[in-house]
Order: sequence, then C-alpha cells, then structure tokens
Amino acid sequence: MSPSESTEEPASVRAGDAGPVEYDVIVIGAGPVGENVADRAHAAGLSAVVVEHELVGGECSYWACMPSKALLRPALALADARRVDGASQSVDGGPDTGAVFKRRDGFTSGWRDEGQVGWLDSAGIDLVRGRGRLDGARRVAVETPEGGRVELTARHAVAVCTGSRAVVPPLPGAAEARPWTSREATSASEVPGRLAVVGGGVVGCEMATAWRALGSEVTMLVRGGRLLPRMEPFAGELVADALEDAGVTVRRGVGVTAVERPAPGGPVTLTLDDGGRVEADEVLFATGRAPRTDDLGLETVDLRPGGPLEVDDSCRVPAVHGGWLYAVGDVNGRALLTHQGKYQARIAGAAIAARAAGVPLLETDRWGAHAATADHLAVPQVVFTDPEAAAAGLTVTEAEQRGLRVRSVDVDLGGVAGAALYADGYRGHARMVVDTDREVVVGATFVGPGVGELLHSATLAVAAEVPLERLWHAVPAYPTISEVWLRLLEAYRG
Ligand SMILES: Cc1cc2nc3c(=O)[nH]c(=O)nc-3n(C[C@H](O)[C@H](O)[C@H](O)COP(=O)(O)OP(=O)(O)OC[C@H]3O[C@@H](n4cnc5c(N)ncnc54)[C@H](O)[C@@H]3O)c2cc1C
Repeated sequence: MSPSESTEEPASVRAGDAGPVEYDVIVIGAGPVGENVADRAHAAGLSAVVVEHELVGGECSYWACMPSKALLRPALALADARRVDGASQSVDGGPDTGAVFKRRDGFTSGWRDEGQVGWLDSAGIDLVRGRGRLDGARRVAVETPEGGRVELTARHAVAVCTGSRAVVPPLPGAAEARPWTSREATSASEVPGRLAVVGGGVVGCEMATAWRALGSEVTMLVRGGRLLPRMEPFAGELVADALEDAGVTVRRGVGVTAVERPAPGGPVTLTLDDGGRVEADEVLFATGRAPRTDDLGLETVDLRPGGPLEVDDSCRVPAVHGGWLYAVGDVNGRALLTHQGKYQARIAGAAIAARAAGVPLLETDRWGAHAATADHLAVPQVVFTDPEAAAAGLTVTEAEQRGLRVRSVDVDLGGVAGAALYADGYRGHARMVVDTDREVVVGATFVGPGVGELLHSATLAVAAEVPLERLWHAVPAYPTISEVWLRLLEAYRG
C-alpha cells in the first residue's frame, strides 16, 4: 500500500522508487523537533515521513544536551558531596574520566541511532535517509547516501526542522587549526592538557566547567565583560567566581584575532586583540550558532537561504504562498532549546492537523497555536554549571525593553534553611521580576547548587500568570530550597 493511498499505514520509501511519493506531511530533519512534529501529525491521523542525513535524534541526542549533561553530572555530583560535611570526608580526587566517558557514551548510544529509528518505526513514521532540499511548492528532493534521488510531495505540509550548526568565526588560521566546536567538546574521549574556550555563553561556561572537572587547565576568552550575558548579571558573576575558584582562568574583554596550529596534533596559539597570546592543546569555539538553511533549496520557493526562517506562532512561514511551509525548532531562531523546539513541534503538529481538516485553529484546540505565547514570555533555561543558573521568563532589562512597569526583588539563597542544609556555606542568589500593573511574576532567576530542579515552579508562575496574592498561598515544603519563594514574596510585600 502506498502512502499516497492511505493516511494510516505508510509504506517504507526506497531510493529508486519510481516517481514522487506522496505523504500528508514531510519533515526535513529528525532531531527532537522533527521527530515530534511527525509524531503529532501522525497521531492526528496524517501520514508522515522524516528525512535525515545524519543520525535520527539530531544534535541534542549526540552532540549537545545529552552528552554535555552526561559529562557535567559527575562533576556536579562530586561538588555537591564536597559541600556537605560528613560526606566530603569520603570524597578524594576528581572524577574517574574513563567512567565518565563510558557513561556519556551510553547516553549517546555510542553515536548509533537504531533505538530512535526503532521508535520512528513503532510510531508509524517513515524515514528516508539522505539530504533533503525543497524543490518547489510542497516538494522535497532527497539525495540519498548511495547517490540516488527520492522525490517526495506533501499533501498538506512540509516542516523544516533542520536545526542549527556551530559557527566558527572566519579568523586567519581558524579552519586549518581544526578547532573544537560543541561537537568535539561533547564527544571527545581524551582530556586535553590545556583547553582554551572562546566565548562566555551557555556552551562556553558549561564546557569550561566539564573539562576543568575532568582535569584540563582551562582558559576562557570572553569578548564582552560578562559571562552568560542573556541572564541577569548576577548569574554570570557567580558562575565566573566559581569557575575561577575551580582554577579556570577567565579573561574578559579580549577577542581572538588569529589562530595558528603549525603542526597537526601540536599545540595551538591564539593571538588576542590586546596583543597577548594564549597557547593551548585544544581550542573550543563556543561563539554562537547559525540556522541550517543554507543548503535547503529555499530559493526554489522564493526564500533567501542563510538566515533563520521567520514564522508565526503556529510555526508557519507566512512568506510562502499557500501556507504549506513550516519551520520548527532551532531553524526559526526563536529559542535555541530542545524543550522550546518540542513545544513548538506540539503546536505546529496540531496546527498542521487542524488546517488539513479544514478546521479553524481556535475551534480545534485550546492547547494549540492560538494560545502559543510561551516562546515569547516564559522560556525556561538551566545552565548546568557549578553553581547552576536557572531562569524563566524575562530579566529586568528585557521586561523594561518591552515597556512593562516592573519591580524586582532579590534574596540571598544562602539564608534559606533548605539551601543551608543542601550545602554547607551555600552560595546563591534569587531574583523575582514582577509586573506591577498586573501583580504577576514575569521573570525569575536562581543561581546556586541544585536550583535547576526549582525552575519549573517559576515557569509555572510566569506561564500561568499566577496573581501574587494566590502565589502567597502556594506553600513550599520545609526545609527545601523552594522556600525562597516565600522570602521573595515577603520581600515584595515589604
Ligand atoms: C553543547 C550544547 C548543549 C545544549 N544543551 C541543551 C540543554 O541542556 N537543553 C536544551 O534544551 N537545549 C540544549 N541545547 C540546544 C539543543 O541542542 C537544540 O535546541 C536542539 O538540538 C534543537 O533541535 P532541532 O530538532 O531543532 O535541531 P537538531 O537537533 O540540530 O536536529 C536537526 C536535524 O536535522 C538534520 N538535517 C539538517 N539539515 C538536513 C537536511 N537538509 N536533510 C536532512 N536532514 C537534515 C540534522 O542532521 C539533524 O539531525 C544545547 C546545544 C548545544 C550546542
């Protein structure tokens, strides 16, 4: 049975199948976002195929979220134990690097995707291996690894879920020096003696934490004055202090102007714009990401390649006539986070299904696109450094830029009983940002050991726009770090 004949049980697609194969929905890119778009569409009764040219599971599973957190977890567990008298006496030495890499390799399934391919299969979603490119309206041409070509047509929608790639700045010598990007930083199995990390954002801070804990001498080179510049300023300050306490050299206000690795496998030298030089065994460029739109056939549908694909709140690309093109996840540049991309996928999948059925979005699904505000207002993020930095919603600056009248209150987390029990000499800080016109929380940031698990309380408060007078009656359990909410509300009430 061919997928064009039925929306229930699509047949598998092989290179060389004659003529275009028709599906209801074609998804390009089988990262976490593409998998979820296909799943939502298929669950709504549509036939779906995903096209993937590397590993099913995408960047997140093999070179980003999973391996990075697997590398960090042993470091954070050891640090937690060292901060508790009675436990610290039993901790001597650092992590067992071989065991850390082995555990990390388990979480990446050894960079094999059989497990996720099996899931696609069990979900009734077809897979075509190869590079997919748009080939005019509702058409996707796939170049298969064997050199064949598979042509697909979409009855209802094509969803571009091609993610993003690391950007290495075009500095003299950079390409030849074979620097690390996030891919090598999350998959390497040898600890460099000296690691230079260029960039002070989330990836730079997390990887500096991980590789320092694994034994590298780490130097961070940060162009601006702050680490974690998208968070409240105290987050970057506390994380920088802790990195320095752990032995990382953090150099702010310096840019790299050239890279040189004269002998393959030998040391690399970075020239700095202050005239200085830094020598290291490896250099990681954690200097941002670009959407994968450059080789996607966008020109065949009158879109310009290279930049993020602009979308509406249902993740549809409004610039394309006919409303059949969607862009979901990192590729639309809205929020480069797996959970946000998967959220968008749920929204987009429901919107595709509703439009395919000819039903207005508002009438179909109160959980759907017309209510999709979280990309703008309540994005949560945890930075798994030591201490963790966790934030949901807006910073004070972002809220003011949006014209909100806000008041923020701050609390020293060390004064909360649950925090003091969690770690001796607990160092941490919390801020709550309140929209004073509506008396609702629009942002919260916590920095300290163990705060990552606290974050969802803030996400709930922000996304649900809980009035402060109701939040007052949400009693945090004693003695947990969550009691910080009481301290924040007391500070606000005065
Ligand atoms: C080091 C690091 C750590 C991170 N940690 C976290 C974290 O802890 N939590 C979090 O929420 N986010 C984290 N992120 C971000 C997260 O990885 C991304 O937001 C997420 O992977 C985006 O998912 P995606 O499906 O949009 O794209 P991707 O995961 O990039 O998947 C896109 C897929 O599309 C495929 N593809 C691309 N072009 C084509 C084509 N033309 N044809 C066929 N296939 C194609 C790719 O091979 C890939 O499999 C991290 C990122 C990095 C770099």
